[in-house]
Amino acid sequence: MPVYSVIIPCYNEQEVLNETHKRITNVMQNMGESYELVYVNDGSKDDTENILNALQKSDKNVRVVHFARNGGHQIAVSAGLDYASGDAIIIIDADLQDPPEVIPEMAAKWKEGYDVVYGKRSSRKGESRFKEWSASVYYKVLQKLAGDIFPRDTGDFRLVDKKVADVVRNMPEHARYLRGMFAWAGFKQCPVLFERHERFAGETHYPLKKMLKLAADGIISFSDKPLMLPLLIGAAFCLISGIAFLALIICAICGIQGGLWWIATLILMLTGIVLICLGIVGRYIARIYEDVKGRPLYVVAETRGFKEEK
Ligand code: UDP
Ligand code: MG
Repeated sequence: MPVYSVIIPCYNEQEVLNETHKRITNVMQNMGESYELVYVNDGSKDDTENILNALQKSDKNVRVVHFARNGGHQIAVSAGLDYASGDAIIIIDADLQDPPEVIPEMAAKWKEGYDVVYGKRSSRKGESRFKEWSASVYYKVLQKLAGDIFPRDTGDFRLVDKKVADVVRNMPEHARYLRGMFAWAGFKQCPVLFERHERFAGETHYPLKKMLKLAADGIISFSDKPLMLPLLIGAAFCLISGIAFLALIICAICGIQGGLWWIATLILMLTGIVLICLGIVGRYIARIYEDVKGRPLYVVAETRGFKEEK
């Protein structure tokens, strides 16, 4: 078994692959320990398949998984996790936006005893103001909704210990938000700062639509608070309509005609009641969803004092 496995998801990356392979190989060889490079070809339509096959022929450290169809970045990395056999697993993009030269620093932290060493972006070169701003707003919302477990300014570039990879491998959920799943697993985590570069060549495969899907997956997979929304709105409607009813009764006593206000208030109250009922159903759905996700109840880092250590 190699010490390090590097997972590299590739979708239509023919322009960058040879350079990526050269840079990663250079770094891994300088580290002087055994390693494997697990390339996952996520159903590419360009020459990626042939380039990867050629790399595999010429380099005994290369493993290649070809998908029959495009499954998406998170699925490609998940497959890489299943096929990787190293003690430490590194996830890195194929386009050299995550500099491979940071890997030795991550490995040093791992050897110090950290189980997850995630890359934290100190700057994002070549990314639009909009992407920077939307990412910052998104992470604030995510932290509010899902609790404070998600580090900011991190992507999927990270090194994880085998035992953390095992926890994530055993989380069967289909909507995969890997950075969140690694954060959820716990263990000793620490950041390594790096400068995110521009893409070496080619163009992003994360258009706004895919980006929004990933963002939604992050929130929906890690928070059931959105299901509380109807309950809160319904309660607010009932409160407002309750006050309005009181006001209308007082008006009626004083001889002022309420007219259509009675109907408006009644509609508001009925809507509130319907929303509250929806919110209650939502609470049950949240429970079902929690169970359907099939996540482990707890994650044990270590046990001591048992006869047979688990
Ligand atoms: N990728 C993939 N499947 C996809 C889209 C992207 O495996 O459907 C890979 C891609 O080859 C790259 C990584 O995921 O290695 C990140 O994608 P990209 O660079 O296009 O995203 P960005 O960095 O622009 O967010
Ligand atoms: Mg990229």
